[in-house]
Amino acid sequence: MKPSVSVRTRILGTVIVFAFALFMLVQYQYEVKLKVILNTTEQSKYETVADTVLPILAVNTAFELEHENRQYISELVRQNPDLVRVILTADGMGMIDIGEHIAENTTLIRLHKIVPDPQGGSALGEVTFIFTSRVLQMTEQEHRTFIISFVLVAGLLLLLLIVILHYAMRPIYVLLNWIRDFDPKTDDMSTMPEACCDEVRMIEESMQQMFERIRHYTAELDELNRNLDEKVRERTDALSWTNAQLQEEIRIREAAEQALKAANERLTALSRLDVLTGIANRRSFQEHLNESWAVCVREQIPLSLIICDIDHFKRVNDTYGHPAGDVVIRSIAEILGTEIRRASDLVARYGGEEFAVILFDTGYADALALAKRLQEKVWAMPPLPPPAEAVSGITLSFGFCSLVPGPHDSIAKCIAAADQALYKAKKAGRDRIVYGECSEE
Ligand code: GH3
Ligand code: MG
Ligand code: MG
Repeated sequence: MKPSVSVRTRILGTVIVFAFALFMLVQYQYEVKLKVILNTTEQSKYETVADTVLPILAVNTAFELEHENRQYISELVRQNPDLVRVILTADGMGMIDIGEHIAENTTLIRLHKIVPDPQGGSALGEVTFIFTSRVLQMTEQEHRTFIISFVLVAGLLLLLLIVILHYAMRPIYVLLNWIRDFDPKTDDMSTMPEACCDEVRMIEESMQQMFERIRHYTAELDELNRNLDEKVRERTDALSWTNAQLQEEIRIREAAEQALKAANERLTALSRLDVLTGIANRRSFQEHLNESWAVCVREQIPLSLIICDIDHFKRVNDTYGHPAGDVVIRSIAEILGTEIRRASDLVARYGGEEFAVILFDTGYADALALAKRLQEKVWAMPPLPPPAEAVSGITLSFGFCSLVPGPHDSIAKCIAAADQALYKAKKAGRDRIVYGECSEE
C-alpha cells in the first residue's frame, strides 16, 4: 500500500517550501540592492576624497618633497577614519606606505590612481588608497540581523501554524478516533462527538447516513442469511430424502440384478440340460467334448466316446404310447447318470432315444468295461413306473471309440467312428457293444 501523508503534513510541507522560496527571493533582492548602494554611495565618496588629495600629492611628488608627502598622508590617514592605508610609489622617491595593519576579515575598497605631473606630461607615479567599507560592513551586519530575525519570525510563524493546524484538525481527529472505535452493531450514534465546524458537521452527517445504510444492509443480510439457512435446511432434508430413496432404489436394483443374475445362471444351466431327462443336452455335449478333446490333445491323455441307442424303441412307443416311451428314456438316462459319476465325464442325450458318454482320461479297456456295465445295468433295470409299468426287456446297442487324440485326429471323425460302430451293433442284431477305430494309424 502507498504510504499515506496526513493533511497536516501536506500543509506544513507546502508552507515550508513557500517560505523558503520567499526567503531566497528577498535575499536575492537584498544583495542586489546592497551592491547598488555600495557602488553609488561609498565608491563615489571615496573617489572624491582621492581626487581631492591627489593634486597635493602630485605637487609634493613633482618637487620630490617626500617628507611633506609622508606628513600629509599621515595627517590624512589620522583625520579620515575610513582611510586605513595609502601606498605611494613615484620615480625619484622611495615607496611611501602609511597606514594601520589591515585585519583579514575587513571589508575594503581599493582605489588606484595615477599621480599626474602638475605641469603636464607623463605620470609621476601611482598611489593606492585603501578604505574601510563601512557601509558594506554595516550592510552585512544588517544582513545577519535580517537572517536571524527572518528565521525567528519564520519559526514563530511555523509554530503558530502548527498550533492553528492542531486546533483546526482536532475535531477531525476526535471524529476519526470515534469512528475507529465505533461498532455499528452494538454502539449508538448518540455517542458521536459534537461537531464544532461546518465541514466536520457535514462529515458527521455523511457518517450517520452511512452507518444507517450499513445497519439497514446488515439487517437485510441477516434476513438473507436466515432465509439461506432455512433453504439449506430444506434442501438438505430434500436431498436426504432423495438420497434415501436412491439408496432404496439401488438396493432394489441390486436385488433385481442379483435375481436376474441367478435367473440367468439358471437359464444358462437349463439351456445346457435336456428337458425330458434332466441330463446334459446335445449342445452341452458338444462343448464338453471340445474342451476335453483340447486337453487330451495338449496333455496326450486318452479319451473314449460311447454312443448308445435304445433298441426297437419305435415299438415301445407304438405299443405302450408316447408317455410310456418318455418314461423309458428317462429311466435309461437315470441309469447312465448313476453309473457315470466322475466330474470330468459326461452323459448327454444325443438324439431322440440316443445317448452319448464322454470318458475323459479313459482308454479302450476301461471304456469297454464301462459299456458292459451299462449294458448289464439296463438288463437289470427294475420295473418301470406307470404308464410304462408294462414295458420290459429294454436293451441298448453301443458303439464306441477310444484314442489319444493327435493333431491329425478330429472330433467329427471320433463321433463318426462311434456312430459307425453303433450302426454295426444294430446291424449285427442289437444289444451289443462294437468298437469303432477312429485313429488314422
Ligand atoms: P432301432 O433298434 O434300429 O434303433 O429301432 P428304433 O425303433 O429304436 O429306431 P427308430 O429310429 O426307427 O425309432 C426311434 C423312435 O424313437 C422314433 C421316435 O418316435 C422315437 N422317439 C424319439 N424321441 C422320442 C421321445 O422323446 N419320446 C418318445 N416317446 N419317443 C421318441
Ligand atoms: Mg433306437
Ligand atoms: Mg435311434
